[in-house]
Amino acid sequence: MGAVHMYCIQSILARHRYSLDRRHNPGLIGGVSNRHICEGFTMHVLVCEDDELIASGIVAGLTAQGLTVEHVATASAARAMLKVAEFDVMVLDLGLPDEDGLKLLQQLRHQGLELPVLILTARDSVTDRVDGLQAGADDYLLKPFDLRELAARLHTLLRRVAGRSVNLIEHGALTYDPSSRETTLAGQPVDLSRREQSLLQALLHNRGRVLSTEQLKDSVYGFNDELESNALNVHIHHLRRKLGNGIVETVRGLGYRLGPADGGEESK
Ligand code: CA
Repeated sequence: MGAVHMYCIQSILARHRYSLDRRHNPGLIGGVSNRHICEGFTMHVLVCEDDELIASGIVAGLTAQGLTVEHVATASAARAMLKVAEFDVMVLDLGLPDEDGLKLLQQLRHQGLELPVLILTARDSVTDRVDGLQAGADDYLLKPFDLRELAARLHTLLRRVAGRSVNLIEHGALTYDPSSRETTLAGQPVDLSRREQSLLQALLHNRGRVLSTEQLKDSVYGFNDELESNALNVHIHHLRRKLGNGIVETVRGLGYRLGPADGGEESK
């Protein structure tokens, strides 16, 4: 860990110098000038990183790339900053002095933060990366990293988010990704069958509306599917078991609807 850290700092400092050189000669890299990269738009970046050397490297590097950067060193400062200013993207270190970066991210996502987030991490196991993405990160970069790569990824992230037609659906501690059909509860992946996914999707898409048994069957089953009797009840039962009882509300005599956000959290 110590060696990685040292290498990281050296790498950052080397890049820092490189970026500073570049500032005096913007055409240096690949013939692409800073202005060209962010034409007509200044990206506002929040950097949450407690290591001063790394942070100053990032700030200098991204600023040299033409981005506007705010730096905070703690999770609580990040929260405060997000309340008072608008950002286009956030760079988040996972090892923060007051709180784990992943916890911060999860919490911000639950509160409805839609800002794209790139996590910086020295934790390089697959599990850590998966955890980060499941906590709501849009991308990650392992330390040590190249500042130009960081800037390039931030731009890519913004483009991707801007062009994203289907957004992650959030409901309390629950998230559902319509494109991948992945479900998480409090940041943890939940394994749902195809039927359960369809059922959940139908409920999420009809927030506040009561769906009849027939309507739900139509969403869950294809025309050619053979229907076992009582099958819908079985899927609802499974969904409640996996996501909490409150996820599906029975409306007597009418059908079902999505329960209130966080209604089933404690019964997970
Ligand atoms: Ca740190």
